[in-house]
Amino acid sequence: DSSSPATAEDLLATMHKYWGYEQFRPLQREAMESVLEDRDSVVVMPTGGGKSLCYQVPALCKPGVAVVASPLISLMKDQVDALTACGIRAACINSTVTPAERRSIAADIRSGDTKLVYLAPERLLSERTLDFLSSVDVSFFAIDESHCISEWGHDFRPEYRMMRMLKDRFPGVGVHAYTATATERVRSDIAQQLGLVDPELLVGSFDRPNLNYRIERRKDRFAQIREVVSRHANESGIVYCIRRTDVETIAEQLNDIGIKAHPYHAGLSDEQRQQHQEDFIQERVDVVVATVAFGMGIDKSNVRYVVHAGMPKSLESYQQESGRAGRDGLEAECVLLYSSGDLVTWKRMLGDLPDSAQQAAFHSLEALDHFCIGTECRHRMLVSYFGQDLADAECEACDVCLGTVDLVEDGLILGQKILSCIVRTGERFGADHNAKVLCGSRDKRVLELGHDELSTYGLLQDQSIRAVRTWIEQLAGQRFLVKSGEFNVLKLTESGRELLRGEVTPKLTRPDADADDKPTRRKR
Ligand code: ADP
Repeated sequence: DSSSPATAEDLLATMHKYWGYEQFRPLQREAMESVLEDRDSVVVMPTGGGKSLCYQVPALCKPGVAVVASPLISLMKDQVDALTACGIRAACINSTVTPAERRSIAADIRSGDTKLVYLAPERLLSERTLDFLSSVDVSFFAIDESHCISEWGHDFRPEYRMMRMLKDRFPGVGVHAYTATATERVRSDIAQQLGLVDPELLVGSFDRPNLNYRIERRKDRFAQIREVVSRHANESGIVYCIRRTDVETIAEQLNDIGIKAHPYHAGLSDEQRQQHQEDFIQERVDVVVATVAFGMGIDKSNVRYVVHAGMPKSLESYQQESGRAGRDGLEAECVLLYSSGDLVTWKRMLGDLPDSAQQAAFHSLEALDHFCIGTECRHRMLVSYFGQDLADAECEACDVCLGTVDLVEDGLILGQKILSCIVRTGERFGADHNAKVLCGSRDKRVLELGHDELSTYGLLQDQSIRAVRTWIEQLAGQRFLVKSGEFNVLKLTESGRELLRGEVTPKLTRPDADADDKPTRRKR
């Protein structure tokens, strides 16, 4: 009986009928049910987790049209094409749609034929659209990439803020927010900014056990890329860069050594981008070298590796970009080439943001930096950033757990030197000050405090301040230290005291031979 409300069984049957899938992915059932129940929800799933189906399937099971807000035209078009290919009536309204087409789309919505309509937020919130939607049967609203509403997210878009209007204009119609950004702060910001009423919160697991993470210092960029690419002959991979010029250069270098690669960035024409994307999906080329513009809507399951030749701007971005590898669940490799210079580049590029957004962006960069220099399991560090924990002690799929990170041999002694300095300065100072004391700096404050008199002064005078700061970060990451208060004062933990007694050894990395700042005194 088509007039009775849909049930959970209908969801499975509908998904099977149109998409051919036999089972739900984790949390899909719960997410779809909350749509059927007309309550609000916030659904957090990692990239590739299957968020789209969470609103597409119930859209088919409910009377009326589901309205999807999505930030990118290309993304909308891809989705509508995919739905149409499955035999589903869907449309998108954007600037490329002619008035005549718009009228026909409106007629199909009015008659109830169209089950999903995709719109950019600014178009959705125009008076004209809102008036139109008020006159038809809207089944629910789905807000894709909903982290864009939060300044704490990595991709803030002011026009998302206005979406709050939906709850006022359409009381009783469910609003569902979807994102791959799971930090607690962003999550509650989404619910609050949208004015959601008692939303159901569904957060999926962020671990991608089939991805093997590796972080290398960037030394000879192309040699490092080549090493990965040539290990995957005839397999698909993505190389990410920050700048367009790097994209062009690397794509050329790859083609020069006989590897079929396409560039992809915002400077290419729409047709070129479309063509390059199509060639990649159809496997006419193996590699796409891209700026982050690539991949927002890409649905290719057998990407075997993702190399970051330039650093991403946050762990959210890293999760998303590296997450494009291995969507088929088979093993895939994610290599990030670390360079502190890139962090400076990002800071410059993010310098134009409004103050509060800039602060959030810098905070994200710092978290990324800590992830890169950290010496704990990469899987664990990543999921813990997203507020989750891992059951297994060792993942066996990252450079740290596999023991390929370049560690110093005398980690214990080095750790003891650093911790005793922190104790000598009274556990009242941050990383910077302690690093200066250890390196024997003539800094005014060090001298004023008489810290040049301490036995730990200059203990690491052959090391750069940067190297010592990295070790302090690594000790904090391994919980030998905690940072407290607004000045990040360093204090020893119980395991820090065990380290001082020589009962545990920390993992500290060998300092970068060609780091940006060399020690002040050089040995000859
Ligand atoms: P997200 O938006 O979370 O990144 P998508 O919605 O694009 O993820 O889904 C990723 C891929 O997984 C798509 O190819 C989709 O068709 C597929 N998929 C989604 N749900 C299922 C399922 N239950 N069974 C099999 N494949 C699925």
